[in-house]
Amino acid sequence: MTARIIDGKAVSARLKEKIAAEATRLAREHSIVPGLATVLVGTDPASEVYVRNKNRTAEQLGFHSVSFHLPADASEAEVLARVRELNEDPQVHGILVQMPLPKQVREQAVLDALDPRKDVDALTPTNAGLLLSGRATLVSCTPAGMMLLLKEYDVEVAGASALVIGRSLLFGKPAAQLLLSANATVTMAHSRTRDLAEHCRRADILVAAIGKPEFVQGAWVKPGATVIDVGINRVEAAEGKYRIVGDVDYAAANERAGAITPVPGGIGAMTIACLMRNTLLAATSIAGLAATQLSPKI
Ligand code: NAP
Repeated sequence: MTARIIDGKAVSARLKEKIAAEATRLAREHSIVPGLATVLVGTDPASEVYVRNKNRTAEQLGFHSVSFHLPADASEAEVLARVRELNEDPQVHGILVQMPLPKQVREQAVLDALDPRKDVDALTPTNAGLLLSGRATLVSCTPAGMMLLLKEYDVEVAGASALVIGRSLLFGKPAAQLLLSANATVTMAHSRTRDLAEHCRRADILVAAIGKPEFVQGAWVKPGATVIDVGINRVEAAEGKYRIVGDVDYAAANERAGAITPVPGGIGAMTIACLMRNTLLAATSIAGLAATQLSPKI
């Protein structure tokens, strides 16, 4: 048996089309142009690429897009001042401060300064709490993308046994919460979990967000399970080149799973689309438009 490939690239392309159409409608009917601001501190090459892609996508969808690049030795006070300015900017509905930050800038201080209504990465304690209460407008982008993919591929979540490996604030914790809200029976695993393979073998939905290349073995996958691979790992390939692999041994897991996300082209493809979706949701919510005034299925 080979698994159904969950094509995040195709789903995200369709989602972006819907978002662009909705942005056009908002501009026409409500004079609102969703605005995204990115803040990058330092010169980490991967972060530079991520931020550039985010701004480019925002522009492609017809959003107002601004980016601020601060030097690697910028003080915490400078970063906080920028965030506070953007909090007050009526053209900006989403603020994304690219992580990780240089060590002199405390992530927690930045998140505390950020207006939760503009927190499109959904990392502030306010948005984490709203997610726990089942009242969140803004949900962390990659977990939100995972749920959209499960829905798109008709994966039965209610009653399923779901295992989330990894407990980060960015992915693992919100992913577990979303699966629980969708009535899965959720187990969370981490570096101190005993007998991870056994937990995997029981999972109807196996989600890996570990950051270790091909760590989850194919033999651990329950036959027919849905495998969501969140990992993005750069490994050496032939001739001094690199390739990107996930946290799951894809070739082996593909033999046993019912459905699986490839890396790249799976869950990662959804993250930027969901960031744009959050910016759109933030814009409508800040304007006081009810969610029902958005087109369905966004
Ligand atoms: P993270 O902060 O890097 O933490 C890794 C998690 O994995 C921790 O909870 C850790 O447990 C757990 N872990 C480490 N070794 C383990 C082991 N041997 N067995 C079980 N669990 C183990 O997590 P993250 O930020 O969510 O990132 C995880 C991966 O997802 C990375 O490859 C990252 O690049 C990728 N990612 C991709 C996207 C995307 O857009 N596609 C978004 C976010 C993350 P402890 O808590 O006990 O240390």
